[in-house]
Amino acid sequence: ASFSELALIQPLLARLTELEYHQPTPIQAQVIPSVLAGRDLIAGANTGSGKTAAFALPMLQDLFTQKNKENPKGSQGNYVTGLILVPTRELAKQVADSVKSYAVHFNGAIKTVAVFGGVSANTQMLALRGGTDILVATPGRLLDLMSSNAIKLDKVKTLVLDEADRMLSLGFTEELSELLGQLPKQKQTLLFSATFPEQVQTLTQELLNDPVEIQL
Ligand code: AMP
Repeated sequence: ASFSELALIQPLLARLTELEYHQPTPIQAQVIPSVLAGRDLIAGANTGSGKTAAFALPMLQDLFTQKNKENPKGSQGNYVTGLILVPTRELAKQVADSVKSYAVHFNGAIKTVAVFGGVSANTQMLALRGGTDILVATPGRLLDLMSSNAIKLDKVKTLVLDEADRMLSLGFTEELSELLGQLPKQKQTLLFSATFPEQVQTLTQELLNDPVEIQL
């Protein structure tokens, strides 16, 4: 398969050509159509599999096409539309950089912000003002920002849990359940994990609605 056969739109296809992504990785070939179809999904995926593009490309495409239709000038308030939760600050930066890179031909229409601990929250708070299309976050810092009202999650349409097993093994279980409780019930959820211990399975059952299961 090629990326154009996966029904990706031109601004993304042009970028993939520039990045010399000549064809989708196996996980991309399976994940992208399911996400575009609006399905929940659980995928077994290691680093290096191309999982970031697998969730980021269809998410960007949905956000961009919906935004053009509904609300060309953007919304008010500190809303977030797409939320990507990751276990570490390094991964938060890396995923946000990838998302921004894939979105370059949207010419600034999609705003992506990364928030994580270990640095001052002030700059992150400023970046969140006026709303964020895609927020990449570690759970602890996200909860801090929520409790200071710097962020609102009641408009999240798509949730990604990246490296869910690492997130739970790093002791984010409580943070996660508190966070997830504040998201709208009606949303699309994508869960990626290298392994599937009991904690991940429990999370899957609580969170996912009739998910597509992808195991390579
Ligand atoms: P990830 O597993 O998301 O961390 O991606 C691993 C690496 O593969 C990153 O450096 C990506 O830029 C690269 N990559 C992802 N998808 C493709 C693709 N379809 N073709 C070539 N490289 C890719």
